Amino acid sequence: MSDERREIVAALRRAVAALRDEGVDWVGPRLPAGSAPAATQAPAAVVAAEPTRPEAAPAAPAARSTAARESSWQPRVPALDLPDPATLEGDAAARAARLAEIRADLGDCTRCGLCETRDQIVFGEGDPAAPVVFVGEGPGADEDRSGRPFVGRAGELLSKMIAAVGWRREDVYICNIVKCRPPGNRDPRLEEVAMCQPFLEQQLRAIDPAAIVTLGKPATSTLLGRPVAITKLRGQWQEWNGYALMPTFHPAYLLRNYTREARQAVWDDLKAVRARADARR
Ligand code: SF4
Repeated sequence: MSDERREIVAALRRAVAALRDEGVDWVGPRLPAGSAPAATQAPAAVVAAEPTRPEAAPAAPAARSTAARESSWQPRVPALDLPDPATLEGDAAARAARLAEIRADLGDCTRCGLCETRDQIVFGEGDPAAPVVFVGEGPGADEDRSGRPFVGRAGELLSKMIAAVGWRREDVYICNIVKCRPPGNRDPRLEEVAMCQPFLEQQLRAIDPAAIVTLGKPATSTLLGRPVAITKLRGQWQEWNGYALMPTFHPAYLLRNYTREARQAVWDDLKAVRARADARR
């Protein structure tokens, strides 16, 4: 079994274990109405309904037909927004090259159903040797259009959050737990996360940051492998495979709850992240 398949199987096992912990005993394709109890008809969302993106939910775009996809299909592996490895030195060049390999492996991915409605894969961007990786939930409409993570209103606020602790956006790395936009900005489903998570994990290992910042409940739950209450867990250091992980609020949550307390909380969390990253230098 290839490393990629092994990672996918491991991610699926973790997802199923998390579902069992939540009392879900069946996950699978949507069944015809009436053929199963309502609770088992749709795969469970990866998280409870804590909205994390501010955009009004637009109508889900129609899935592209197989014929349309085939007629328009062409290998689409867009250039990464990363420096050319040839212009980087040593470690940074190696990490950039590894990220490019991971992106090439992802290809024009059809591993989960989100491929049917996305416009572009949003792989991630930033410094391949970044001290910190910010992990969000999934691309929204602006990101789907541009192919870049966090470019809408929430993205602007994230850039300000990053600047508030003295980094520029290009000093860090930003990505999501799923690389394709869930239609209507719904939460990504467990099986979608499970298929995409190996690529996120490879990105994190390639960058080898001093800290990972998970933005909101879905990203935190995904990397910790269990459902979490972000309001309780934020600000407390966690661990993902030996990496320090700081859960904090998603910037979209801050846009909806622009209170002094919420801003102070994120500021405190990011100051702790900055201190940890500086200590590793
Ligand atoms: S979300 Fe991830 S696994 Fe699903 S199609 Fe997009 S890139 Fe592939």
